[in-house]
Amino acid sequence: MSQPSPFIYLSPPHMGGQEQQYVQQAFDQNWITTAGANVDGFEQELAAYTAVPAAAALSSGTAALHLALLALGVGPGDEVFCSTFTFVASTNPIRYVGATPVLIDSEPGTWNLCPTALEDALRDRQRKGRLPKALLLVHLYGMPARLREIQEVTQRYGVPLLEDAAEALGSRYQDQLLGTFGQVGVYSFNGNKIITTSGGGALVSADPKLVEQARWLATQAKDDLPYYHHTAMGYNYRMSNISAGIGRGQLEVLEERVRQKRKVFDTYRHLLQDVEEIEWQPEPEGFYSNRWLSCLTLKKGCRLNPEALRLRLLEAQIESRPLWYPMHRQPLYQRCDYFGDGTSDDLFSRGLCLPSGTNLTPADQERVAEVIKTTFRG
Ligand SMILES: *Cc1c(COP(=O)(O)O)cnc(C)c1O
Repeated sequence: MSQPSPFIYLSPPHMGGQEQQYVQQAFDQNWITTAGANVDGFEQELAAYTAVPAAAALSSGTAALHLALLALGVGPGDEVFCSTFTFVASTNPIRYVGATPVLIDSEPGTWNLCPTALEDALRDRQRKGRLPKALLLVHLYGMPARLREIQEVTQRYGVPLLEDAAEALGSRYQDQLLGTFGQVGVYSFNGNKIITTSGGGALVSADPKLVEQARWLATQAKDDLPYYHHTAMGYNYRMSNISAGIGRGQLEVLEERVRQKRKVFDTYRHLLQDVEEIEWQPEPEGFYSNRWLSCLTLKKGCRLNPEALRLRLLEAQIESRPLWYPMHRQPLYQRCDYFGDGTSDDLFSRGLCLPSGTNLTPADQERVAEVIKTTFRG
């Protein structure tokens, strides 16, 4: 009797091997808390990897976005421009600080923020005499946004750039790592991201003072006095020394994970090259995605929809997921101002994320491809 096929997950954690040693050191020294050698080491190693002067290790990517907005001085009554095609964790922190998101659509060449829609929105706001406090730019599925065009616009209007690189650690634009283009960059180490700390995030900046302020806010904004003295409202957002230990082990294998993710993508493209109805998230010249998730779209007019494909995969014990449902469609955000031409709606209606674990075996990938091929044949 044949064994039932094991379940294939979308993007499960993949340990490198050294993580437990770092965690063991934390146990040996009894530093089980939100400070210690692993937190310091992880921050230094992340800063060295991304070639910035400083990084702050935090409890999640969401917390990092929250602190990044505070560090940029965003507050009640302000507007923040944000990619509409994203996960809700990008927009929620804008509301945490009492500001209002203005949602900007994607363009088809990267699936990320459209520079023309951005310019339209900025022109509109300039006419109204209220420019946004920041642009929160998302690099979706690891693909760099059109940074040159976008920065040209934001610099012309004097709007600070905050990069949500939660999905894009290890991705590059013109050979420079994502997260290091804006005034602040944010990463996530959630369990499904390219590397994980079991849950965590980080904030990086070329400005060490900004990072220092974020660390201070992340530890209840305690003033430098022997007793508990506070001049500002802080948070409990620091990464633990245990999580940071996992992160140090994961950083050692990050570049290998990027290569593996890209190989997973190339393999799908190869295995499914004869399925004419399928297209892939494009990667323009000079763009280098970590291919966090391998994402496809079905061609316009295709007789199948992605939900049918998702259900067929699920029947075969394979997890796949729709693309992000745009924020301007969410009950939570549909009343926000939105600038665009429906590109993200179109991508959502035709797209699917395939299992993209770096621990996926060639046989697993063939299994996935076979189900997709049979679905199209059937
Ligand atoms: C995962 C993710 C986040 C949030 O990160 P957490 O560590 O899960 O809080 C933010 N933005 C995007 C685009 C993400 O994919």
